[in-house]
Amino acid sequence: MSRPLRALVRRTAFRHNLEMARRAAPHARLLAVVKANAYGHGLLRAAEGLAGADGFAVLELDAAVRLRDHGHAGPIVLLEGCFDPSELRVCSELRLTAAVHNLEQVAMLEQARLAAPIDVFLKLNTGMNRLGVPPAQVAVAHARLRSCANVGSLTLMTHFATADDARGVQWQLDAFTRMTAGLDLPVSMANSAVLLRYPQLARGWARPGIMLYGASPFPDRTGIELGLEPAMTLESGVIAIQELEPGDSVGYSAAFTAGERVRVGVVACGYADGYPRHAPTGTPVLVAGRRTRIVGRVSMDMLCVDLTHLPQAGLATPVVLWGEGLPVDEVASAAGTIGYELLCAVASRVPIVDLD
Ligand SMILES: *Cc1c(COP(=O)(O)O)cnc(C)c1O
Repeated sequence: MSRPLRALVRRTAFRHNLEMARRAAPHARLLAVVKANAYGHGLLRAAEGLAGADGFAVLELDAAVRLRDHGHAGPIVLLEGCFDPSELRVCSELRLTAAVHNLEQVAMLEQARLAAPIDVFLKLNTGMNRLGVPPAQVAVAHARLRSCANVGSLTLMTHFATADDARGVQWQLDAFTRMTAGLDLPVSMANSAVLLRYPQLARGWARPGIMLYGASPFPDRTGIELGLEPAMTLESGVIAIQELEPGDSVGYSAAFTAGERVRVGVVACGYADGYPRHAPTGTPVLVAGRRTRIVGRVSMDMLCVDLTHLPQAGLATPVVLWGEGLPVDEVASAAGTIGYELLCAVASRVPIVDLD
């Protein structure tokens, strides 16, 4: 028998979650965000499950090339645009859409020699202060792109910093409205949080990512609570049992010490597989479908779970680290992070298995 750890991926979940995005924003065109190897799910597998989207968005040029190679003929947007002129040429040849977020990228487009014009998403900085043209440069960026022979269609794009919390989007939306006054162009504003919470802003090209994988963009709600289905279930098994007497401890730093008799299962999954090392004792886990907790320090290849109240659990009993029956959002929250980070961190040594 091989090491029991695997990431099970259900392609029907992608279709369901895409349908939820359509229902939330029926008039939006949906760019399925498949950056970071489709949030750890495998680019081509996710793209196949999300083939009903109106296009894709990625960070990595090689991912865009792979999508084209595999027959995805619709729009593919590079969310950080091009980093050098050779990337612009690939964009032009493969009809990729490039974000342009500063005047340097405008100049690069002006100076490029391209076979065909490139469609551009002009990214505006409305307050996130990460990427985007500042208010004072919008007019000049727009004018230069408009008169550049290497530029095809133009779309105005922005990204919201606080769509998932009480501060909301209005402050950035006001900035966007001021910055785009007089420009009659299509827009792209909504990530998952915006699409679900402010569907009226999902007009034009929406850019849902995390929700398509069945996880939540919100700190206080799980994917299941939003009607989403987890695309990935990270599953492993018990590979050893330890019976701790009171005073015995388990794992590195003896971080967990038994106060009474504790039956511990050792599970084949550690931080080298992508499980967060900082997940503390008490982080939820499913053993044979029943909820229990991890105990002690997560190590590189293993973690330990409390089987004291699961006497039927033994060697080879299946363990779900997250996914069906245990939202990744809950595990992430126990570990002080977000579902996004856990999904993206699943290591390449973990085999991905298609369930349907
Ligand atoms: C990653 C990303 C998204 C998707 O965000 P989710 O929160 O996963 O929906 C949308 N837009 C941009 C610019 C991104 O970088």
